[in-house]
Amino acid sequence: MSANTWIVVAGDPAISTLIETARALGGHVTAAVVGPRAVADTIAAGGVDKVVWFGDPGEAPVEAYASAVADAVGAAPGAVLGASRPGDRVLLGAVAARLQAAVLTEPSSVSPDGDGLVVTRTVFGGIAVETVSVTGPVALVLDGGPVPAAIGDAPVEEVAATPLGMTVVETRDSTFELVDLSAADRVVGIGRGLKEQGDLAMIEALADVSKAEVACSRPVAEGLNWLGKDRYIGVSGQHIAPDVYFAIGISGQLQHMVGVRGAKTIVAINSDANALVFKDADYCLVGDLYKIVPALTEALK
Ligand SMILES: Cc1cc2nc3c(=O)[nH]c(=O)nc-3n(C[C@H](O)[C@H](O)[C@H](O)COP(=O)(O)OP(=O)(O)OC[C@H]3O[C@@H](n4cnc5c(N)ncnc54)[C@H](O)[C@@H]3O)c2cc1C
Repeated sequence: MSANTWIVVAGDPAISTLIETARALGGHVTAAVVGPRAVADTIAAGGVDKVVWFGDPGEAPVEAYASAVADAVGAAPGAVLGASRPGDRVLLGAVAARLQAAVLTEPSSVSPDGDGLVVTRTVFGGIAVETVSVTGPVALVLDGGPVPAAIGDAPVEEVAATPLGMTVVETRDSTFELVDLSAADRVVGIGRGLKEQGDLAMIEALADVSKAEVACSRPVAEGLNWLGKDRYIGVSGQHIAPDVYFAIGISGQLQHMVGVRGAKTIVAINSDANALVFKDADYCLVGDLYKIVPALTEALK
């Protein structure tokens, strides 16, 4: 792999894991920072060889700087690393597209291999480990880690970048209440078996009496938009390990069930006796959720 590794930063200096990974690859480590000057200075002290600072984007979204960052990284980069936070992912993705780089997410190990890299990562929600050999430009998305300790004093080069003509004209807070499902002992998950959004009141009543948080399958949060995206469980959503998980009107596709593999007890309610969810459930209630959920709620009272 090339002697140079770049770290792309979109405003948050919490990148110590990226610096460690870049250092382990050998060669020069340069951070491309889009964000306040203080962030560039923190990273310059954090153990990189150089910081290229593109300025504070202000009202422009960070991806407006992707072309400028990609130009700085150059035509034949080695690895380009970015943190898995939303802004960093967007900037890294746009830079990778410009560089025509392969993109690999959440590697568990990265090591040099001749002109390329060998990357291992878990796939399919953690049920398999994949080893990928990659040559040419590659972008890696990793957990950023904490803010690096001040151990160095790398130079900061300021680049007068012209962002693409994009401006954020409005940002509205989500109307959904945020929840930390990973901390919940009990979780009531609802799927497309629910007919109407108004019927969520029935699910919330069950959650109330069982002191549980409400969660859902992906289509309920993405598509129907009945619950916030932080409430959907599965391979691309939350992974939870509660004492009890109620899977209600959820078919039990692999993409959902990998998110509840850590649950101690799974109670499934489904009108289809052949629903996949029953294969993973400890308690299988076959029937109409509109009858079972109110009865269960009453019983739990
Ligand atoms: C790349 C990729 C990533 C994905 N990631 C995720 C993910 O992270 N999380 C996720 O959840 N999904 C994910 N999916 C989608 C996943 O494959 C399924 O499509 C989804 O989980 C199905 O949601 P569901 O079970 O709510 O709906 P359905 O599959 O439509 O199931 C509804 C269930 O409700 C039952 N039902 C209907 N009426 C009643 C009733 N009155 N009483 C009782 N039961 C009833 C039905 O029998 C059925 O089993 C992903 C898909 C892809 C391709």
